[in-house]
This record gives sequence, C-alpha cells and structure tokens, in this order.
Amino acid sequence: MKSRRIVIKIGTSSLILPNGKINLSNIDELAFVLSDLNNKGYEVILVTSGAVGVGLNVLEMDKRPADIATQQALASIGQVELMSLYTQMFRRYSQKVSQLLLTRDVTDFPTSRENAENALSALLSMNIIPIINENDAIAVDEMDHQTKFGDNDKLGAIVAKLVDADLLIMLSDIDGLYDKNPTIYDDAQIFREIHEITDELREMAGGAGSRFGTGGMTSKLSAAQILFENGQEMVLTNGARIREIREIIAGKEIGTYFYRK
Ligand code: ADP
Repeated sequence: MKSRRIVIKIGTSSLILPNGKINLSNIDELAFVLSDLNNKGYEVILVTSGAVGVGLNVLEMDKRPADIATQQALASIGQVELMSLYTQMFRRYSQKVSQLLLTRDVTDFPTSRENAENALSALLSMNIIPIINENDAIAVDEMDHQTKFGDNDKLGAIVAKLVDADLLIMLSDIDGLYDKNPTIYDDAQIFREIHEITDELREMAGGAGSRFGTGGMTSKLSAAQILFENGQEMVLTNGARIREIREIIAGKEIGTYFYRK
C-alpha cells in the first residue's frame, strides 16, 4: 500500500463524547497527525461529520430535534463552531485549513464537479488541508437519509473519487468490520481484509449504529463499493486510534482493509 493522497473521514462518534461534550483530545490528535503527514509531503483531505452534534453542544441540547428546520439550524450553528475548533487545533501545528461545504448536485454536474476538483487541487498545491462536510444546513436529504449524499461515509467515498485518492481512511467508533455487531455479540470476529461487497456481508453489517453516528456498517460497505468501482482502497478503523493513521499508511495491518485483489 503506497499512499500519497489520503482522504480521512471522521464520524460524529469520534468528535463528540457520549455525554454530548466535544472530544477535544481526538480533534487535537487528528490535527497533529494530519499536519505531520502534510509536512511529510502527503496530500491530506479531511471529510468531517459533526455539525449537528456540535450544534447540540453549543445550545446545550441533549437530543437531536425531530424537525428538519431545527436540525438545519443546529447544523448551521454547529458547522462554524466545528470549523473554529479545527482551525484552532490545526493552528497549534502551524497548519492552514479550508472549508468546503458540498451538496450532491455539485459532484453530480460535470462543470461544478470540475470546479470542485480544481478548487481542491489548488488548495492541496498550497499545502492547505481542505475540510469537507455536506452542506447540512441546506441539504435536507442528508438528515432524511434518502437522497443527496445520503450520509457522510458516502461523501467520504465521493470525495476520494473526486480527488483520485490513493486511500480513504474511515474513522468510526469501532475497530473495523466484524462478522456481527461487536457491541452486541462478544464473540464477533473482525475481518482484516475485504475484497468484495457481498449480500452476506451487508447482512452482517446490520442496521444503523451508535447514538450519534448515523450510517452504521451498511453505509461503510456502500462507501467501499463506490471505491471498488473506481479501483480505490479503504481502511476502516477506530477514531480512538488516530495516531495509528501513520502506521496504516505505512502498510501496517490495522482495522479492516478494503481492496480489490
Ligand atoms: P460512525 O458514524 O462513527 O462510523 P456508526 O454508528 O455509523 O458510527 O457505525 C459504527 C457502529 O456500527 C458500531 O458502533 C456498531 O454498533 C455498528 N455495527 C453494526 N454491525 C456491525 C458489524 N458487523 N461490525 C462492526 N460494527 C457494526
């Protein structure tokens, strides 16, 4: 595995603690590791979830509201706060970042896709780490889980495709893909490598995941499928093990490695 251009996707469960507070140590560690990689000549792009989660934190609410308008308001509030956190943390390591908020139409239409590609290339050539999220405040369907990007795992895969990344590293709240949900079954076994997304695998992935995460393993498999179709690779690992990103890139067996043989 030789990776130079890497997309990292971080899920809400790695950014927000179970008590609803911000996981500062994780965000700091992420900023450190990605800045270090950038210094070493890697091209790094971060795809982040967490706008609504951070919005809940800002307003000291403990439950995601049911109505779309309030969710969008929370995303709008949370996104600036999230970017402010990232900017502060990355600044500690003298790393500049930028923000791109995408919606599905941007990546679906050739001209706007090309514009997005060009903007990303320009940012990477300036040594800036682009931080990408779906534009949750206007993309209703993200929160309905129906159309648009659907979820940020898919957004991660679409971004990896857009920038022709060598590797997508998907940070979840679990060490990898297991043969059954390890939060329910103690005897669940981790898959070290996946070469094909089968119906049997989708069955094992079960339904949605944690309280803050949205997609569960099903959306990770859909993301892997997009990458497979494009001849690309993905590693699924735990967001609590951000420091291991460097070892993953160096080829160490961590998490679940998705690649076509
Ligand atoms: P995130 O958005 O941070 O990735 P998710 O909640 O979307 O978090 O997805 C991870 C969750 O998926 C795990 O915490 C686990 O509860 C659930 N899950 C269901 N089936 C599996 C499986 N076969 N292997 C691993 N995790 C699974």
